[in-house]
Amino acid sequence: MGLAVKDATLEGTVVGVRCEDGRIAAIGPDVEPAEGDEVLDAHGMALVPGLVNAHTHAGMTLFRGFADDLPLMEWLTRYIWPVEKRMSDDDVYWGTRLACVEMIQSGTTAFWDMYWHAEAAARAVEDAGIRAVTAAPLIDDSDPAKSDRACDDAERSIEKIADSGGALASPGFAPHAIYTVSEKSLRRVAERAPELGVPVQIHLSETEHEVSDCVSERGMRPAHYLDRCGLLGPDTILAHGVWLDQSELELIAERGATVVTNPVANLKLAVGGLFPYRDARDAGVAMGLGTDGPGSNNSLDLMDDMKVFALLQKNAAADPAAVTAGETLALARGDRSPLLSRPALEPGADADFLLIRTESAELSLGTLDAGLVYAASGAVVDATVVAGTVLMRDGRVEGAEEVVARTREQAAGLGLA
Ligand SMILES: [Zn+2]
Repeated sequence: MGLAVKDATLEGTVVGVRCEDGRIAAIGPDVEPAEGDEVLDAHGMALVPGLVNAHTHAGMTLFRGFADDLPLMEWLTRYIWPVEKRMSDDDVYWGTRLACVEMIQSGTTAFWDMYWHAEAAARAVEDAGIRAVTAAPLIDDSDPAKSDRACDDAERSIEKIADSGGALASPGFAPHAIYTVSEKSLRRVAERAPELGVPVQIHLSETEHEVSDCVSERGMRPAHYLDRCGLLGPDTILAHGVWLDQSELELIAERGATVVTNPVANLKLAVGGLFPYRDARDAGVAMGLGTDGPGSNNSLDLMDDMKVFALLQKNAAADPAAVTAGETLALARGDRSPLLSRPALEPGADADFLLIRTESAELSLGTLDAGLVYAASGAVVDATVVAGTVLMRDGRVEGAEEVVARTREQAAGLGLA
């Protein structure tokens, strides 16, 4: 007994799919439901891979609409960080559950998360049924004396998530940024991550200020500094990368790290620059797309961010051919990075996929790729399946009302609503 999808359109061919034990057992024109299968009728729908939101802070749904329209450092130091000090496991659990509902609704099947109380976030991910790498931020105020404690805490969190035995949430290191973490801690993360077999996420080169501080303090630009710390490997995600120069892009490509661009958050926080996508592509840099946290985006609908990404890059290059819809979709699906990529829809692969309403007004004409990037929002997703479990059917996520109500209670308890 498994899950079957009937009459879906996959790249122009009508196919059936059967899933067993979380994986695709069969896919093709002749595949029919087996006796006892749960069946999704996909007539008029396209079968497509899920999206990978490669950088977010899911629990920050609690901060959505709180203290908007402020400069980054003022926003963080005066409004966000003081409240975060009071947050509990329950706050992060429900904030993350709400984020999961939104991502499931808009076609994200996996995400990379950096937030406090990461074990609670991991529990929320397991309960929601989506996939994620959940990592607690490591911050030692750039003080080597605080390094051991901060790193020990991070390792404990990694162990707890790994030991909890969930199939969907996995741990990682998340040193916050080079301006909040000491070199001592960065070096320890570089040493421990491969020993523990976990990836690393870090914010890099988000503001011009971060770059000029790094150059004046260390005599080198941020990516070169991270490389000196040993952190620029294939299991590292660099979020933002707005101010990376050519020498940094070449170094990142050589080391195999992945840059995740977050165009909407960059616009909202008005960082004044744009990720040099074409230079990065030409240099061979692995890349992904993220929403960043719901406090600074404020949406978790990655379909919106696809459009913004493509339009910004076209405009900056004064060239409408600078990036294509297909290229943008590949970026949002994780296909442009070995670290982010998900298996193709074929037998043996994880049964993670979406059914898209191609009869909708937005998608009824033109190619699907162009429709998804330029015309549609996440509202065209009819069904979301992760590990062979239907998380959304007919556009409805089961239990969403309870998640909304509980998250409102938690936000009110923090004085945010
Ligand atoms: Zn971020």
